[in-house]
Amino acid sequence: DVSLEVLGAWLRGFAAAVAANRDQLTALDSAIGDADHGANLDRGMAAVVTALDARPAADAADLFARTGMALVSNVGGASGPLFGTFFLRIGAALGAATTVSAMELGAALHAGVSGVEVRGKAELGDKTMLDVLVPALDAWDAALDVPDSAPQLRNGAPSAASALSRSCSAAAARAAAAARDATAPLVARKGRASYLGERSVGHIDPGAASTALLFAALADALA
Ligand code: ADP
Ligand code: MG
Ligand code: MG
Repeated sequence: DVSLEVLGAWLRGFAAAVAANRDQLTALDSAIGDADHGANLDRGMAAVVTALDARPAADAADLFARTGMALVSNVGGASGPLFGTFFLRIGAALGAATTVSAMELGAALHAGVSGVEVRGKAELGDKTMLDVLVPALDAWDAALDVPDSAPQLRNGAPSAASALSRSCSAAAARAAAAARDATAPLVARKGRASYLGERSVGHIDPGAASTALLFAALADALA
């Protein structure tokens, strides 16, 4: 199973990836938005790291609630409340767990995506972070269903459950990277980019790019 330490490493890895790609995320947002996505998310994730450094997380609910709250209160842009909601929902889904299975983590990620859908009211194809979240979770679910993993789990090999989390997260990260690139030809229908209409075509959505970093960081933490 995935430990609280590994989940914390995911969030810290995401913070590091956002910091490293800050200028690139902002450049994407300068093409179809207001050139602040890298700065917004970097400020928010730096606040998350500060909050996690202050004291260790007691359980998954605590880890993700503090993460979500730090994002909601430190990111002014649209992405703050959306990423914040994503993590708050994950925390609520995992509750007092200190280790989670691939199935539980998948279910929690689904709860996070539902939160983004409810809060942002975007639909698939609107050229938003949702266009990465949904295919990434589809890939996670497909990897969960691979028949090969079932006998492994039944045999009770200690590494089998984490092997499943590893393959699910790797599949999700690959799907997320492809889905990020697939936002380029879309016309934006939500957020600031929608003001550009057809002129948003040909540019990757900034939130889709940061969401791909989120899944890459998850795969790295679970590798
Ligand atoms: P702002 O647009 O307020 O400056 P950011 O630049 O930080 O905020 O974030 C922009 C990103 O937020 C977009 O690239 C898009 O992925 C995402 N986004 C904006 N509105 C929505 C929405 N309604 N639903 C889902 N994602 C959205
Ligand atoms: Mg912006
Ligand atoms: Mg802004």
